[in-house]
Amino acid sequence: MIKQALKTGVIYTNMVIQMEVYEGKAKKVIPIDDTKVILEFKDDATAFDGKKKAQFKGKGWLNAQISAVLFRVLEERGVKTHFIGVAGDNRLIAERLEMYPLEVVVRNVVAGSLKKRLPLEEGTELPEPIVELYYKDDALHDPMINHYHARILGISEDELREMESIALKVNEILREYFRERGIILVDFKLEFGKNGRGEIVLGDEISPDTCRFWDAETKESLDKDVFRFDKGDLISAYERLYERLTGESV
Ligand code: 5GP
Repeated sequence: MIKQALKTGVIYTNMVIQMEVYEGKAKKVIPIDDTKVILEFKDDATAFDGKKKAQFKGKGWLNAQISAVLFRVLEERGVKTHFIGVAGDNRLIAERLEMYPLEVVVRNVVAGSLKKRLPLEEGTELPEPIVELYYKDDALHDPMINHYHARILGISEDELREMESIALKVNEILREYFRERGIILVDFKLEFGKNGRGEIVLGDEISPDTCRFWDAETKESLDKDVFRFDKGDLISAYERLYERLTGESV
């Protein structure tokens, strides 16, 4: 494809397009070169398909730092992630990936949208983790899909199985890591991409914006549910999570 593009001279346009900054709801992805990007975490928060919006000063910093801690934990335990380093307050440097248009959700405890699918009460511990796939598409409101749908989107069965297997490994590692710190990892969302060497790598962020964390004793939320359901002060919940993870006060 690249050869063909070179012949027709399209490659230059392609490269320009790829060097553009991508701005999402909570992050900017700023290309540095062919292999690296900067992830800039914003203070903006959105929920319910973008219907609820607010800004929280310091959220970007907290999400960047918490993601960095968790990516390091995973790398140390053999999970390939896009994380390279911290690049200042609310920025990380990461390997450039071609992202799959998928959200891979893993659940350990009944909460959130699972309550609409199974007749189980919030807080019920699942006998085994559930893995779900969602197609990332704002216009379709990120519908839940299965392997048949994903294959139609051009994602192979092998790729799907590899992503699900990495997601379950991430769950094992993080569930234990949080348990040791008095926190229940209720559920979380991951996104994957392919790097320049064709490897499937964990991308995006792992933060209280993308996970549910409950205090093991009080069952208080230390995540974006504080904003979604007006459960209190979002920044102090995120700060408490940061302090439990790092042992340092903000
Ligand atoms: P639920 O399907 O229950 O709404 O979400 C399950 C888990 O995945 C939660 O931890 C939630 O934060 C995360 N999640 C699912 N979809 C999204 C999304 O589009 N954006 C973010 N930030 N997190 C998501």
